[in-house]
Amino acid sequence: MTVPTTEFVFLPPPIPTVEIAGTRQRFPVHRIYCVGRNYAEHAREMGSDPKVEPPVFFTKPADAIVPSGAAIPYPPRTENLHYEVELVVAIGDAGRNIAAGQAHGHIFGYAVGNDLTRRDLQGASKKKGLPWDTGKAFDASAPIAAIRPASLGHVEGGRIWLSVNGETRQQSDVSEMIWGVSEIIAELSTLFELKAGDLIYTGTPAGVGPLKPGDRIECGVEGLETLRNTIAAARPTK
Ligand code: MN
Repeated sequence: MTVPTTEFVFLPPPIPTVEIAGTRQRFPVHRIYCVGRNYAEHAREMGSDPKVEPPVFFTKPADAIVPSGAAIPYPPRTENLHYEVELVVAIGDAGRNIAAGQAHGHIFGYAVGNDLTRRDLQGASKKKGLPWDTGKAFDASAPIAAIRPASLGHVEGGRIWLSVNGETRQQSDVSEMIWGVSEIIAELSTLFELKAGDLIYTGTPAGVGPLKPGDRIECGVEGLETLRNTIAAARPTK
């Protein structure tokens, strides 16, 4: 007897994957979680009080990832595309209600990411109390460099920076995060079951600002692969 094979009505889309530094293996992406307002200076520049408002969680689709080296199209329906350099945590082991003290055991590795944001659309959503999806979860909104395995060491601190056309725009230290990586994993895993393949963008420091077609962006976290992208010309609207 033959086992029936699944017949799809069309070819399923490819699984989004991220390069792993130093190997030919790839990290298959399950979900992308993001943390907002996780550096005090950035929370202030966005008009929040970091002491009374806890970090917020939001998501992006897994297929929003873009590798280092790629040209990113200037997205439609915005006149204020912003960069946000972030430390990204890659989950390698599933869990729910993970204690902060156990969080390291669930981490596969770390990478540098850019939480691209249509700031005008995000601002309009905030003002109306609406979801952030159109501002945050658009196509190609999650550039990410190669993942460095946690077996080479966990990221506890280190310089985090971003430059546009060679000019430094963001500069802080990962140790300045309001919620550290272990606390984020503990909190997030009470809301969602974390799965191998999840990526967590852990929030951006102060200095966010606009990008325009032709810009060259470099993002770094000390000890991790640098993320390099350019913004391509706007796509025709028709
Ligand atoms: Mn962000």
